[in-house]
Amino acid sequence: METRKAYYETPTAESYTANILEIRPYNDGLALILDATVFYPEGGGQSGDRGSINGIPVLDVQEKNGEIFHIVSSGDGEKLRPGPAELVLDRVRRRDFTVLHTAQHLLSGTILRMTGAPTVSMHLGEDVADGSHPCTIDVNTREIAGETLLAVEEVVAEAIEENHPVIIHRCPPERVEDFPLRKIPPKGEEVIRVVEIQGNDFSPCCGTHVTATGEIGMLRVLGAEKYKGMTRVSFIAGRRVLRDSRALRRNAETVSHALSVPVAETGAGVLALVEKAAQLERKLKALEEEAALRKAQALLRGAGLLDEAGKAVGEGRVLTKCFADADMDEVLRIGRAAQGLCAAVLVLASPRELKFAGLCAVKSVDIRPLLKDLMTQHGGKGGGGPSFFQGQFSTAEDLAAFLQSIPQTRELTL
Ligand SMILES: [Zn+2]
Repeated sequence: METRKAYYETPTAESYTANILEIRPYNDGLALILDATVFYPEGGGQSGDRGSINGIPVLDVQEKNGEIFHIVSSGDGEKLRPGPAELVLDRVRRRDFTVLHTAQHLLSGTILRMTGAPTVSMHLGEDVADGSHPCTIDVNTREIAGETLLAVEEVVAEAIEENHPVIIHRCPPERVEDFPLRKIPPKGEEVIRVVEIQGNDFSPCCGTHVTATGEIGMLRVLGAEKYKGMTRVSFIAGRRVLRDSRALRRNAETVSHALSVPVAETGAGVLALVEKAAQLERKLKALEEEAALRKAQALLRGAGLLDEAGKAVGEGRVLTKCFADADMDEVLRIGRAAQGLCAAVLVLASPRELKFAGLCAVKSVDIRPLLKDLMTQHGGKGGGGPSFFQGQFSTAEDLAAFLQSIPQTRELTL
């Protein structure tokens, strides 16, 4: 039996009395089927209502073949029986979607008038603070310029201020052409609902709408992106604009305090900070490279691999060294600097990270035969090429034993 759609008859009702006719299994939960309902089922891009039936929370509302399913959890549903039911609607949530839905008509109608591009689909996302469920329309055009979207916002703002009535026409399908509809009405309906925003838009629609555009309060276009050859425009309206504005202001004030600049200058302040950070990073990198070069020179001199004049000596030797306080990034910087100065095989380790690297600048030398088997024997894992090899151990003892096992001299083919 079809459920009577009382949400059209009493769109502002907060509570409503109906009858539960049947309770049916529905996926993981139960679906209540009533003789009438004020709960709008998901459809036309608008989410289903929430609220309670006899005090039991309604988790979702869906429609199939004229029957409306009020979905409750199976544990809760067991407390319900067929018979009289008191429906209480989550009015705040309904109003949020009603405002967004009407705002969407106004936005789509305005974009059509100003650019000639029709809206082909829409979605009204749940109200979550992280913006992960946006409200969007897909407009059949490759691109809408930023200035055009700003102009659209202004025209929509005017229509909201002028408080145009929103009129619902119920007409038989054969009379639907009396209206200059923005989109094609659904087929097979006995009655077509045409939603008119006076002076702005006519659209066939089954959703819930405000009675005059002033109730929308405000509409903001948040952005536009390319989507399947079309343009996906995201927007917010009503109280969501207020909450969004508050969140943005809070963020801007945090940045303003942190940078000691007025709120209006936070953008420029952040860009200046980013530029300064990049400069410092470049400076730090140069200093690190310089320090690594000095450490490399000291290491090689100490090991007798570099003479007073800075010339490579002691060719054919293998140098192993642990840098107790350095992380692997620093060890690698020192290794690369040292590699360019000498002709030895360098095996340098960071005990803090249980990692090592083998390096050799002599092209004819392959360091893998020296390191790979020993590493595996001591339980290490890693790999590399003829001139650069790196690995990791799971204990400090294994790393130390590996380093000790490396022969300190070796015949190198130079
Ligand atoms: Zn609508």
